[in-house]
Amino acid sequence: MSIVDNVRSVEERISRACEKAGRERTSVRLVAATKYAEAGQVVELIHAGIREVGENKVQAAREKQKTVAGMTWHMLGHLQSNKVKEALRLFSVIHSVDSVHLAEELSRHSEKLKQKREILLEVNIAGEDTKFGIPVSGLTDLFSQVYKYPNTRLVGLMCMAPYSDEPEDSRSHFRRLRELRDGLQQKFGIALPQLSMGMSGDFQVAIEEGATMVRVGRALFEEAVL
Ligand SMILES: *Cc1c(COP(=O)(O)O)cnc(C)c1O
Repeated sequence: MSIVDNVRSVEERISRACEKAGRERTSVRLVAATKYAEAGQVVELIHAGIREVGENKVQAAREKQKTVAGMTWHMLGHLQSNKVKEALRLFSVIHSVDSVHLAEELSRHSEKLKQKREILLEVNIAGEDTKFGIPVSGLTDLFSQVYKYPNTRLVGLMCMAPYSDEPEDSRSHFRRLRELRDGLQQKFGIALPQLSMGMSGDFQVAIEEGATMVRVGRALFEEAVL
């Protein structure tokens, strides 16, 4: 299997999940998670029609952007406040905002940017010690502060389900994230269109539960790497 074949296969599975859920294919964006990939493989993604990629580290994105042009970059990993300035230069969308301090820094350093960056709040949906993200109990409070910042656009929520071999195990977590989103929309009266959830093992379930951005890594690169 080549990367092009992998992309085709993932695309087919996304289309089928959309059909099953009664959703338009265009309502789900495929963000290719490239933390395992080399710059050359990311270029292959472009040839396969991918236009959105996600990285977990500022430095990795900086390196890859020297070789790869014409992509929209998403920050998926934990972001340190001292890297905010560079992250704003490299990324259009930041999925991993999980503290008031980080959000404040993002807004402060965004003041001079012509285009506002989109941010999502990362929720530690299953309360795992090993994961970043705001605990569910702190989400409303974080949201109530961050949505007012003038220079960033808060567009939704992101989560990672606990690791499992069984995709159905993720469903309740994805559903919970959607319900949290619905609750915030109602309480604050603003639109939160984006739900970033679903990875290689569970993106179909995520689509059924309302994901608008799926972040897929291994399924695009796995065999192609060998
Ligand atoms: C690595 C990663 C992904 C992609 O995971 P795969 O299992 O390789 O599809 C998605 N989101 C985040 C935050 C990641 O770190």
